[in-house]
Amino acid sequence: MKALVYNGPHDVAVADVADARIEQPNDVLVKVTATNICGSDLHMYEGRTDFEEGRVLGHENVGEVIEVGAGIDKVAVGDMVSVPFNVSCGHCRNCEHGLTSYCLAANVEGMAGGAYGFADMGGWIGGQAEYLRVPWGDFQCLRLPEDAREKQNDYVMLSDIFPTGWHAVEMSGLKAGESIVIYGAGPVGLMAALSASVKGALKVMVVDRHPDRLRLAEQIGAIAIDDSKGDPVEQVMEHTKGVGADRGAECVGYQAHDPQGNEDNAATLNKLVSSVRFTGGIGTVGVFIPEDPGAPDELAQQGKARFDFGNFWFKGQQMGNGQAPVKRYNRHLRDLIAAEKVTPSWIVSHNLPLAEAPKAYEHFDAREDGWTKVVLNPA
Ligand code: NAD
Ligand code: ZN
Repeated sequence: MKALVYNGPHDVAVADVADARIEQPNDVLVKVTATNICGSDLHMYEGRTDFEEGRVLGHENVGEVIEVGAGIDKVAVGDMVSVPFNVSCGHCRNCEHGLTSYCLAANVEGMAGGAYGFADMGGWIGGQAEYLRVPWGDFQCLRLPEDAREKQNDYVMLSDIFPTGWHAVEMSGLKAGESIVIYGAGPVGLMAALSASVKGALKVMVVDRHPDRLRLAEQIGAIAIDDSKGDPVEQVMEHTKGVGADRGAECVGYQAHDPQGNEDNAATLNKLVSSVRFTGGIGTVGVFIPEDPGAPDELAQQGKARFDFGNFWFKGQQMGNGQAPVKRYNRHLRDLIAAEKVTPSWIVSHNLPLAEAPKAYEHFDAREDGWTKVVLNPA
């Protein structure tokens, strides 16, 4: 089958690889109809992880079931399904508690959490390909309604970024009528902004420096804060009568940088602590990693950050973090899409065939104007 293969930093190509196939009785084989490029792919694309050369990328997948293993009894051939980016078994201790992002069976011994086409997440083959093998298929596949193909650009957000944005807001502790500041107006930050509005936020503030992304935030009623035009903390204070936002969300991750491009992995965390009020809450879904050999400073290379713990403690804030447990949210978010209460596809800038994926990575990685979210359509 054709698939997008990682050959090294800034080098991906469409190549012929072994066909994905049913290997276990509980496997489901999916013909991939839509698969997104994610900001998480960019950490790998830029060579900032230990993603192995020759591996296939892609963890935001939707497709049609074309074959099922002998042990599958819910999912059927012909179903259109959303596949969570987390590979999870459904019956380990963490899955039983809804923590499918820390499944104990989907990674190597001693590590929790699996994902398709991801560094250090169990070696599963990605879905930026013609076909995808989905293990534990009955547990993993979320069946989509009749309008699956028509609203594919909406439903494709269910495998990762819509639940991830929702999770960031959930972890922040937002209640209806409260304000929230979101750092990062990439796809994840924009989904956090959408989620906060659906959850009844009084005021949603989104910080970034890319005008096209900030415009998308404004389109759903958020306040755009351009940090290239002034200190974002001061701007948040102006919008909150000097008190700070009730809640905050980190949607950037360890490659956070200033508008000039100087990297500081603690930048957004510290700005959040300063932007959020005393006793407020923060949800961190931007990725941070235990080792980052490509980081510009020695501390960050060891996965450590100059986190302003003193200010965080002094303000009595709370923070939640980690990979999002997609299955906790994807069913009700699917139903919001089906009922036309939300249209997460408003961020999609491109639908492209798999053959154009290498070019799309280049543009999206450069955060070029107008490249806000790329959906690849292999089938
Ligand atoms: P992206 O790279 O497209 O967007 C990140 C945005 O952050 C960019 O628009 C960039 O301009 C902005 N930014 C950089 N430094 C900033 C700063 N100091 N202040 C404000 N904004 C800043 O990526 P994305 O797809 O939106 O993903 C965002 C993060 O979420 C990534 O780290 C990704 O790996 C992570 N992620 C986590 C999960 C999870 O389950 N926890 C799931 C999906 C993605
Ligand atoms: Zn993703």
